[in-house]
Amino acid sequence: MNIEELQKIIYNAGIVGAGGAGFPTHRKLSDKVEQIVVNAAECEPLMMVDHHLLECHLAEIAEALKAMCDTMGAKEAIIGIKGKNMHLLNESVVNTFKGTPIKIKEIPDIYPAGDEVVLTYETTGKIIPEGAIPVMVGVMVVNVETVYNIYKAMTNGEPVVKKYITIGGDVPKDITVTVPVGIKIKDLLDSVGYGNLENKAVVNGGPMMGKLVDIDTDAVTKTTKGLLIFPKTHGIIQRMMLPTNIAMKRASAACCNCTMCTDICPRYLLGYNLEVHKTVRAASHGEVQNTEAFLQNALCCGCGICSVIACQQGLTPSKLSMEIKGSLGKHGLKRTNNIAPESVRDVRASRLVSSNKLIDRLGIRRYVKDFVEKVDTQFNPDKVYIALSQHVGKPATPVVKVGDKVKCGDVVALTPYEDLGTTMHASINGTVTEITDRFIIIGK
Ligand code: SF4
Ligand code: SF4
Repeated sequence: MNIEELQKIIYNAGIVGAGGAGFPTHRKLSDKVEQIVVNAAECEPLMMVDHHLLECHLAEIAEALKAMCDTMGAKEAIIGIKGKNMHLLNESVVNTFKGTPIKIKEIPDIYPAGDEVVLTYETTGKIIPEGAIPVMVGVMVVNVETVYNIYKAMTNGEPVVKKYITIGGDVPKDITVTVPVGIKIKDLLDSVGYGNLENKAVVNGGPMMGKLVDIDTDAVTKTTKGLLIFPKTHGIIQRMMLPTNIAMKRASAACCNCTMCTDICPRYLLGYNLEVHKTVRAASHGEVQNTEAFLQNALCCGCGICSVIACQQGLTPSKLSMEIKGSLGKHGLKRTNNIAPESVRDVRASRLVSSNKLIDRLGIRRYVKDFVEKVDTQFNPDKVYIALSQHVGKPATPVVKVGDKVKCGDVVALTPYEDLGTTMHASINGTVTEITDRFIIIGK
């Protein structure tokens, strides 16, 4: 198989980064890739999807990695996994890696170990230049679930119609479930018995980088990795609900310019020119001429460390930084200097944030369970809501119309192959009942 053939398989199966980013995976394939780095860090607390996939499907994941190395001419595929999770890797499967390009690399139990810049450094020693993508240093970073989806597409032509999700937080029992893409989040929580959300809020994703769920409208997408339920009064929810203009006013009143938010920033520590304290100062003091203080935010990964760990004044520099990054993106403004730091900063090792420290600082120790059950319940929703935009790039255009009968796996929308985007499929058998600017709704 050549690269173009594998790209077509991945595009036709609608595979995008399943870890949350949603970048169309076929566009990452390149003959310039020397190393495939598998993101098995699962660095956000309470998330367990990759744990379960590694535990149950390591052989299939390895199969896909071998084929990807072969197709792209990559010399190795490195599974980056924390030492505490090594036991998940089935020893007899690992023994078959000898003589293959597949390697396992232990990475430190820090947050954000799964940030692709941090992960690339920890697994390969390479630093991705500022504003560049991993392939510029010969690396392709790919999530565990994404690789498993590639395996299913390569072997059975199976499209992405299912999603693996951890449901946890303030619930009696954390579980990992496999659900149809497009199931309404409220319907899913109802069917597992967690639908009473009085005085509670739901986060789509982890407690650091997740987003608040609109329980009336949101549905599971290809990038949904976890649904975490917390009391509305919890600091995590309060931080997510804080409007940016209020965050700005608070920064203006209380920032003492101590620089701790910069000192601990994982990208600053890798040598990037990202000094978020300068952004806070420029934004809150109206220093509009200081363009560098704004442009540098294109380098922010939104990890939230500066807000949760660093700022003793309770400010949220990450919120300002990501707001500015979003605006830069909307106007097509990127960091294009592509300069690689010559080395990481000397103080990096002493400033890394352990997962344990993060859990305590977030106030979620009581929600960390010893065991998260993988539940094999079959979910058969009466309706699914297939989002037209659940990936980076152009939204997909419907190729069905209201009244059409569809089977699970049929293509219902797509972005043309030449554009950045992917393909969407029906995740249940049924009839297209409605098409909105956001969803294709399929009912049984
Ligand atoms: S969120 Fe804060 S700590 Fe994280 S990369 Fe952005 S500026 Fe740095
Ligand atoms: S850590 Fe807080 S107080 Fe210190 S510079 Fe950053 S935003 Fe200001």
